[in-house]
Amino acid sequence: MKLGIRSQLAFVSLLLMLVVGTIAGGFLEHQRRNAIEQQIEQELSHYAASARELMVESKAITARQFDQLADRLGRATTSRITIIALDGRVLGDSKLTPNELQLLENHGQRPEVLEALSTGKGIYRRYSTTLETEMLYVAVPFGEPDTIGTVRAAKPLSEVDLAITELRLTLIFTGLIALLLAIILSSLASHLLTGTLRKLIHHAKSLPAGSPNAHDDIEVLAGSFNHLAKELESHITELRRMERDQRQFIANASHELRTPVAVIRANAETLLDGAIEDRVMGPKLLQALDRNAERLALILTDLLDLARLDSKQTHLNLTELQLADYVADAIETLEVLAQKRSISIHIDLDKATTLKADPQALQQILLNLIENAIKYAPPSGEVIIKSQQQEDQLLITVEDNGPGIPESCREKVFQRFYRVDSGRSREVGGTGLGLAIVKTWVESMGGEVGVKPVEPTGSLFWLTLPLG
Ligand code: ADP
Repeated sequence: MKLGIRSQLAFVSLLLMLVVGTIAGGFLEHQRRNAIEQQIEQELSHYAASARELMVESKAITARQFDQLADRLGRATTSRITIIALDGRVLGDSKLTPNELQLLENHGQRPEVLEALSTGKGIYRRYSTTLETEMLYVAVPFGEPDTIGTVRAAKPLSEVDLAITELRLTLIFTGLIALLLAIILSSLASHLLTGTLRKLIHHAKSLPAGSPNAHDDIEVLAGSFNHLAKELESHITELRRMERDQRQFIANASHELRTPVAVIRANAETLLDGAIEDRVMGPKLLQALDRNAERLALILTDLLDLARLDSKQTHLNLTELQLADYVADAIETLEVLAQKRSISIHIDLDKATTLKADPQALQQILLNLIENAIKYAPPSGEVIIKSQQQEDQLLITVEDNGPGIPESCREKVFQRFYRVDSGRSREVGGTGLGLAIVKTWVESMGGEVGVKPVEPTGSLFWLTLPLG
């Protein structure tokens, strides 16, 4: 299970406090322990030195007096004072009775005693078997001019532990107060922060790709941002593609229009310059002028159709239509052209079927495809028009035995102004826009369009439209 952003914030600040608190506490404890131990050590050094001063003329002191002196010094300094003879016998100890002293083991080998005798001062911490607690010992030699023994001051280190426990309690107490404050502050901060964040997340979740299955709020946001970025990128790519297509289209259109306009202007000028009087040249120039004016009109009509289709100004009027009626109409319109080229047209339609299409669009589609087939078929060639039901679609095919279309061009022929052989296309009066118009119409009615080769030669244009 993942935590929400507020719990995450609270958890992180808590963790931070714990880590910082532990490190700071540990450091403080270490410092404090060192400082107290140093202080005790100084105190003990001071006591031992004072005791030594009291025992300068100690040759006269009896064993009993040593013990009394140790007791007095011990009381005055609240520490354990031990007086040890050079041979290691304990002469006096503030914590022990004279009887106990008798039973005490020899202290000559105690490390602090050995160190005091060799260097003048011995400091040692150790567990005292006599008092059964960890002790700090400071020993110094005494007696002048000759050393008689060592005097040792000691304190239990349990005092340090006591001070540390006190410190820990203080730390825990202040830590708890800080924790409480931190919880209040962090929940306040996360509340303020997540207020805005929640709104964002709420919006993100309501987005189509707001990934409602994301495990936490940040994942939701990240998902939405990624989705938005991808969308934006694809929009930009699409816009760039459209811009490039548009530039290409304008370049192609002006190229196509330039030729007939130039011919018209040149012919008109020649005619005006006097060629109109020429019985041979005059009619020839006029015919060329007329041909080019007609071509210009053709291109402009196709361009206008495409422009209307693109801007979706043309509303589709989808109605149930009989394909046979429209095929018959198109053939009637193209009859003269077919006869001129002695083309025979065969029709094999699935008569019972109706399809759902826009009447004007279907008319134009059939006219373009059948006209192309007639134009590109060889003289005395053949055109076959068929239809066949395919699930909920009607497949319409227009086939000819013309030169066919090379494989590399089969997709491109549906692009605006694309021609396989521009010389041949112009020769047969093509604008290079017919198939582009067919494709746009078919796709806007929910169909598909394509072209296949025919054996031994020829092409078969196919399209699908929904059944009525
Ligand atoms: P056009 O007005 O030039 O015929 P289209 O858009 O109708 O323009 O066709 C584009 C190109 O596809 C034509 O220039 C021609 O090269 C090729 N084409 C179209 N129909 C046929 C066909 N039936 N047989 C061979 N080539 C064809």
